[in-house]
Amino acid sequence: MSFETLNLLPAILKNVHAAGYETPTPIQRATIPLVAAGKDVLGCAQTGTGKTAAFALPMIQQMVNKPVRGNQPRVIRQLILTPTRELALQIYDNFVLYGKNLPTVPCVIFGGVNQQSQVDALHRGADTVIACPGRLWDLMNQGYVRLDWVETFVLDEADRMLDMGFIHDVRRIASKLPQKHQTLLFSATMPPEVEKLALDLLHNPETVKVDPVSSTVKKIDQSLYYVDKANKKHLLAHLLREQDVESALVFSRTKHGADRIVRELKREGIDSVAIHGDKSQNQRVNALNRFKSGECRVLIATDIAARGIDIAGLSHVFNYDMPMEPEAYVHRIGRTGRAGRDGTAISFCCIDEVKQLEQVEKLIGKRLPVKESEWPMEVTTPTDPKEKEAARQLAKAARLAKLGRTAALPKKLTASGEPAPERKPHKAAPAAKPAPEAPAKSAAKPARAASAKPAAKAAPAPIAKPRFGPGAENRAPVRPAIPKGGQAIVIGKGGKMQPATPAKSAKPAAASGKAGLAKPVKRVNRARGRNGER
Ligand code: AMP
Repeated sequence: MSFETLNLLPAILKNVHAAGYETPTPIQRATIPLVAAGKDVLGCAQTGTGKTAAFALPMIQQMVNKPVRGNQPRVIRQLILTPTRELALQIYDNFVLYGKNLPTVPCVIFGGVNQQSQVDALHRGADTVIACPGRLWDLMNQGYVRLDWVETFVLDEADRMLDMGFIHDVRRIASKLPQKHQTLLFSATMPPEVEKLALDLLHNPETVKVDPVSSTVKKIDQSLYYVDKANKKHLLAHLLREQDVESALVFSRTKHGADRIVRELKREGIDSVAIHGDKSQNQRVNALNRFKSGECRVLIATDIAARGIDIAGLSHVFNYDMPMEPEAYVHRIGRTGRAGRDGTAISFCCIDEVKQLEQVEKLIGKRLPVKESEWPMEVTTPTDPKEKEAARQLAKAARLAKLGRTAALPKKLTASGEPAPERKPHKAAPAAKPAPEAPAKSAAKPARAASAKPAAKAAPAPIAKPRFGPGAENRAPVRPAIPKGGQAIVIGKGGKMQPATPAKSAKPAAASGKAGLAKPVKRVNRARGRNGER
């Protein structure tokens, strides 16, 4: 099938071909005719599937077919809401690319920068606004934006909007739209809140489902290394050197973690840049530009900052830390292997992340193939949450001290920086007095509480069905629920949705000769790490 069969205007086809697109992707094939026909659409599509062109091309066509008449002012007729600045800019760039030499004027609005240039652009007149909800709501309240003439409303990455706490703003913004308008909602996953939002916003929608989130892009070569937390930096540096890494996006769970990876790689002689929420917009743009231009081949990012980043030809994604939510795994690795290209996704998992790994594998319906390195996992006892908290507090105090800020030592640490010992409970004098009506029950209480505490301390949270050794099991994959609406178009493997089946070849780690994992428990001081670092 070619773009020519989608009834797009010749001028748009010209721009599409100039962008290097030869054939429409599945979501474009399914969505373009529906949008052009004015239908509401619920799109269930993961990142990298060509989703932007799927809604942008027919929207541009609508603008060209109904241009602004001579002396009419240019008003906002299309609104696209998206969770991050990077994604907003990317969608804006796509509208500019696909709408070249056509009578449409896109405009982008996001926070974190001075609003004046955005206000000026609105005053000059824009008909397609691509915005992040927070800043848009601000400008609406200041009277710079009116949505009374919106004909098409797009909610992109609705599940992320939910994660990032934008749903409230989205609802408020949507309430200002005119009664009659077309709504397109895209989301990679369909948690209940998004499903509810979809039901509220969409009218008899057509559902388009492409490569559900539980099926990761086929062309991505996924693998897993079990490695202790303290050795992740060595493994990363090694793989960046050894493998044929043209460009790598490395995911860190935290902003501080991202900065630390940059420092650690620097020590190993590898140049990298970080992008996260604590960086200014300028720093983020510079980091992205350096990475996209190939000046720096390693970008370290947090989930939120990396959302929507489209890097042509990104060869590797590293999950330096396993994601807290399994869906984020699919979003992360979707940065590579885009638009049908090959890609490599490598995940690091330390003992504290085994639970997250299991959730990821449950979601994608298969085991990640395990690779071995010269830094095998040796710590096989999860960190006690209290110890983890103490280490976190200690690191925070050290960071503040470095900034010259005198921070009171955290409550749970001793003056020497060590975790404070557990306080002994007060003598349970009153409890010893049995209540007259229920003596046996009351007397049993203190004894139970006293014995439960040390037991809980001695046995840290067990990992349900460990991956190590026999007894590890594959679990059934999860599929997102889709609200009832119009006709469902399901495109995927072999033209229909199928539950992903667990990989048959997945071997328990011990069976694949993973020495060390079955060894007796070995403890290290987690506050300092195996190599004595914090
Ligand atoms: P998206 O899912 O919209 O972020 O698109 C992912 C990447 O695929 C972007 O780099 C697009 O430029 C590219 N792309 C979109 N549609 C096509 C197509 N039909 N053929 C080739 N590349 C495409």
